[in-house]
Amino acid sequence: MAPAKSKRKGRTNIVTKKQEASKNEEIKKDAQKVSKKLIEDKRVNKKNAKTAEKPDKTEVVKKEIEKDNQMEGKEPPRKRIKKNFGSLALDSQPQSNSGKGRGKRVAKSDSEEPSEDVKAVKIEVKEETNAPAKKLKKGEDVPVPRPLKYESLGSGPPPVPFTGRKYMGSHVSAAGGIWNAFDNAKECNSKSFAIFLRNQRQWNAKPLDEETVQKWKEVGKDFAPHLILPHGSYLMNLGSPVPEVLQKSRGMLQDELKRCQRLGIPHYNFHPGSTTGKITREECCKTIAESINIAHSQTEDVICVLENMSCQGFTIGGDFHELRLIIEHVKDKSRVGVCLDTCHSHAAGYDLSTEEGFQEFSHDFEKIIGWQFLRGLHINDSKGKPGDHLDRHENIGKGTIGLEGFRRVMNCDRFNDLPLILETPWTSNAGYASEVKKLESIIKR
Ligand SMILES: [Zn+2]
Ligand SMILES: [Zn+2]
Repeated sequence: MAPAKSKRKGRTNIVTKKQEASKNEEIKKDAQKVSKKLIEDKRVNKKNAKTAEKPDKTEVVKKEIEKDNQMEGKEPPRKRIKKNFGSLALDSQPQSNSGKGRGKRVAKSDSEEPSEDVKAVKIEVKEETNAPAKKLKKGEDVPVPRPLKYESLGSGPPPVPFTGRKYMGSHVSAAGGIWNAFDNAKECNSKSFAIFLRNQRQWNAKPLDEETVQKWKEVGKDFAPHLILPHGSYLMNLGSPVPEVLQKSRGMLQDELKRCQRLGIPHYNFHPGSTTGKITREECCKTIAESINIAHSQTEDVICVLENMSCQGFTIGGDFHELRLIIEHVKDKSRVGVCLDTCHSHAAGYDLSTEEGFQEFSHDFEKIIGWQFLRGLHINDSKGKPGDHLDRHENIGKGTIGLEGFRRVMNCDRFNDLPLILETPWTSNAGYASEVKKLESIIKR
């Protein structure tokens, strides 16, 4: 790739200062409204946080299973149900299974007339989902329940300022001070960018000092804040079944959101989490939502942006239904959004090299989550084949999505006004600049 020396003309007037100021005002006002509402909701949140870990419904079914075990002796499969009771909906679906599902086993164990409470639970859950009942073996994965109806998740976060343009950018280095990100972005010909706000491989980070904040604000005063999308640490697992990891992750999220708040960045993007094979996906999603709720109650304004993943291993977020489930359980939906990674989507099973795959991807996102939640994209080609679940980024045009695939992405109006971030293998800022140009050149005017 020819390292094209970036011409910077046109960069600064993409968003004029005036536009930017009004945008900032708008974002701030919206966020302030939200934070006021949040304070009111805080007490409710705290109350709910106490009960969220063990919802009543789960308790009822758990007790029911315990009772059955006592009555009928030790039956290995049932013990397994007990261990994995978190997938409540699957446990309680006697009608929709094909004969060997967990639901049936729960139903079978109900030889005794269930209490009114248990009956009520079963009916309620049945109405909510139509998940296929499936036997959960140790370490086995079960998809989260599918809703019968895809009701809107609401209006989502306040819309980003409208210009109708694409803002192609890249993940840039913050070495030597986070304010250097702005210069690096210029060198990468980037109109939007992502950065790590701390060393992403360490739990601890030194506090953000006021001098850094001022320098950031000074250097970045011409940059529209919603086109900056910081990326979270890979250590963070907000759905971790390990209490210590969960606690550290929650602390990190709060710290990161506070950093964003001080820097005037309205969004914070991170990988949702992982079950690590120890809890159900449903449980994990609910834990992630609770982590977000807690962080929301401790911070103001900043929107948590969940990234879709590639379905690799036990990671959460490859299935849009998992993101939906998280958002459903986030109390303040004006502070949650989604970032779509093209490589991850492709690996998760949407073949973005084809028109059909792209349409399916768009259709599913619209139906399961809704465009109002989209806050950014990661623009990466993929080393792996579609549907192979491998999270391996490739330079644009060199992977299995290919330039034709990106032609569709770059000409989709849904992606206007959002940060479009390259996370392809980096060789130099000039390399990124030419990759940005390549993508901009396929936008139809
Ligand atoms: Zn990511
Ligand atoms: Zn990735």
